[in-house]
Amino acid sequence: MPLVSMRQLLDEAAKGGYGVGAFNVNNMEQIQAIMEAARETKSPVIIQASRGARSYSQDKFLYHLMLAAAELYPEIPLVMHLDHGNSFETCKSAIDLGFTSVMMDGSLKEDGKTPATFEENVAVTRAVVELAHKCGVTVEGEIGVLGGIEDGHGAGGGGLEHVTDPAQAVEFVKKTGVDALAIAIGTSHGAYKFSKKPDGSVLKMDVLMEIHRRLPGVHLVMHGSSSVPKDLQDVINQYGGKLKPTWGVPVEEIQLGIRNGVRKINVDTDNRLAITGAIRKVFVEQPEKFDPRDYLKPAREAMKKVVALRMTQFGQAGHASDYAPVSIEEMKKFYAAK
Ligand SMILES: [Zn+2]
Repeated sequence: MPLVSMRQLLDEAAKGGYGVGAFNVNNMEQIQAIMEAARETKSPVIIQASRGARSYSQDKFLYHLMLAAAELYPEIPLVMHLDHGNSFETCKSAIDLGFTSVMMDGSLKEDGKTPATFEENVAVTRAVVELAHKCGVTVEGEIGVLGGIEDGHGAGGGGLEHVTDPAQAVEFVKKTGVDALAIAIGTSHGAYKFSKKPDGSVLKMDVLMEIHRRLPGVHLVMHGSSSVPKDLQDVINQYGGKLKPTWGVPVEEIQLGIRNGVRKINVDTDNRLAITGAIRKVFVEQPEKFDPRDYLKPAREAMKKVVALRMTQFGQAGHASDYAPVSIEEMKKFYAAK
């Protein structure tokens, strides 16, 4: 099966009332972990690469690994998505390479740090939508600004400085025509999201529900949605790591989001923690080992477990064969007819 359209995956998820995890990758082992989890749980899946991942991997390597994944797991609808594109040119280069979905994060200026104005965000996102839809490619936009920093991209802060204004979200969708909308509700990128288990004072699920009420047909995206479970933190610290105590987004809050229009959930940190914990364990328990496969195999297995669990929790498990994937060529017609 070729790489498929994210729009189709999210439309199907909306029909089925479930969410789809979007997992970040930089290398082969991470892609293998996700595909094995997808096969085990029979899940459609979104694999995404940030600008940092594209430069780390020389993105051609990553693209061909994704083609291999599509070939080796033909029963799994698989999307290749650009995470946090910072400019029209970045999105265009991803589309030219063969990504089937792009995020234009116009909530920040091209430097990836300074919050942009609403007008700037609309203009650049609209331009990307026009190009992408002509190519059959899906577009995710962002309104409001996430906290923290991800691969050098982000405004920093705790996440409550630029919570999405629901009225502005409505106007943004109308003016840009995006397929999916990332919103800021107090979450941050990275491991240090919250200093205690989050409640309504720091995680604004009420804002999410209000946006869904006003935009019932729009696929919402939760960024910075790793749960940062304590058991994964503990493995790292047990084997010599030095993580400070931290809290992520509880799975039950994500599930509440899914009941209120969230169709794409971005998860990266949990997988990073799983990989690092597994590698540290081998280094401490078997210091005589030096073949990279001796620690990369358990690392891959640890990530697979986390991904499979999230797929089950988000509800995408069991939905891989619900529908016949639409080709990107057919998606061009779909958008042209709109
Ligand atoms: Zn993000």
